[in-house]
Amino acid sequence: MTIAVQPTASHFINGAYVEGGSEDLPVVFPATGEVVATLKLADEALVDQAIAAAKAAQPAWAALSGVERGRILRRAAEIMRERNRELSELETIDTGKPLQETLIADAASGADALEYFGGLAATLGGEHIQLGADFAYTRREALGVCVGIGAWNYPIQIASWKAAPALACGNTMVFKPSETTPLSALKLAEILIEAGAPAGVFNVVQGAGAVGARLVTHPDVAKVSLTGSVPTGRKVYAAAAEGLRHVTMELGGKSPLVIFDDANVENAVSAAINGNFYSSGQICSNGTRVFVQKGIKEAFLTRLAERLKGVNMGDPRDEAVNFGPMVSERQVQIVEGYIAKGLAEGARLVAGGQRREGAGFWMEPTVFADVTDTMTIAEEEIFGPVMSVLDFDTEEEVIARANATDFGLAAGVFTNNLARAHRVVAQFKAGTTWINTYNLTPVEVPFGGSKMSGVGRENGRAAIEHYSELKTVYVAMGDTEAPF
Ligand code: NDP
Repeated sequence: MTIAVQPTASHFINGAYVEGGSEDLPVVFPATGEVVATLKLADEALVDQAIAAAKAAQPAWAALSGVERGRILRRAAEIMRERNRELSELETIDTGKPLQETLIADAASGADALEYFGGLAATLGGEHIQLGADFAYTRREALGVCVGIGAWNYPIQIASWKAAPALACGNTMVFKPSETTPLSALKLAEILIEAGAPAGVFNVVQGAGAVGARLVTHPDVAKVSLTGSVPTGRKVYAAAAEGLRHVTMELGGKSPLVIFDDANVENAVSAAINGNFYSSGQICSNGTRVFVQKGIKEAFLTRLAERLKGVNMGDPRDEAVNFGPMVSERQVQIVEGYIAKGLAEGARLVAGGQRREGAGFWMEPTVFADVTDTMTIAEEEIFGPVMSVLDFDTEEEVIARANATDFGLAAGVFTNNLARAHRVVAQFKAGTTWINTYNLTPVEVPFGGSKMSGVGRENGRAAIEHYSELKTVYVAMGDTEAPF
């Protein structure tokens, strides 16, 4: 694979690549720190141009039948699958995630969303309500122009998870990728055009927070869907509220993974590895507080240490590599800061903890044991490869401790006691939960957070509710009465 990823132009507006903006946006390959492309940040005129294109395209797009819109989305899913390797290689260069991962989890998941919502498009509708002789019905209508704003950890997946339900419902979209990973959303825009989407239905503008803020407050925008951190979510939610815009907020987490004594240790260790080290730990729903019941703690830590010998850290373009760099220098530094705090506050380092010297942004998979609830590493989202293992005695105790956080994105439980498994997940204050697995998020099931971790749901039929609204139509069959 050669590193040649400079796109035709920085933005994609009204069906074509558009160059513009003044400030440079360098794109860095996280494994080496090398600049592999240079784009431009959009200026206000470009943002307005993208929104105008989306606004102009929306009525005709919504006027197509669901079957027609769905056919275009499903064709886009096919093209995405045909180009999976090329898209995965691009994503690996942009994010640093191992090709072993991007080949199965990024564009592939985006294609699933396009296929799933393409299939649902023709089924959308309202209901009929009989009112004696009169009746009413509801029409499910598009919201209008939607804005999507993405994080850097799953760029094409996030773009597709937002575009697919939005477009299926008859909306159009302007998407702003994270400035750290601007490349693959442009490919989604290209693919949608190739699949037959009219110009203006899906547009991409590059930019940082300022561009995001302009998009969110634009008077022609009806809905904002953000994937990002809680602090950004609060700002964006507040800005969107000023115009009473609809929102979906997919934010951060500090999710618990609870492992009882009777669990299958091997599976529990696998889940803890997936839920802390996949994508070098840069996953919102990660189970970063691993609560292990005391009777199984030593067995768990022993097997975890053995399994960590299987880490193959290296050039993420090598398909044998299973652990890549972090996305940026800034992110490595954040993680280093948390590791220092963990040590200072008395957590026991049992694996990793060191930055790998040399070019690029490398951090070893790191495990702390004997972590307590009030340590900083147990309270704050780190967004890196740092697992905290905490001990517990009883079910009641662990549920209270698992829920004692402002976050509520996800939670998991490992036990072979069927009744306990369901009892525990029922008490988790979290939007997405797992029994005897962790971090599986197929498009068919709703995904999202409770408490500070978010508002609304992506994926599943539930996403339709967040990209459409109902219009009620009352139909009188007789005369109209009035008091005078
Ligand atoms: P940030 O919150 O820093 O940024 C998210 C996006 O919002 C970026 O595109 C950013 O632009 C943009 N942005 C920043 N400020 C504003 C603003 N004032 N108005 C509008 N847009 C703005 O998150 P990261 O990119 O660092 O991603 C990591 C975070 O995302 C973690 O907290 C993680 O948990 C969360 N996340 C949540 C997921 C979920 O589904 N719940 C999934 C993946 C990640 P730019 O960065 O270009 O400045």
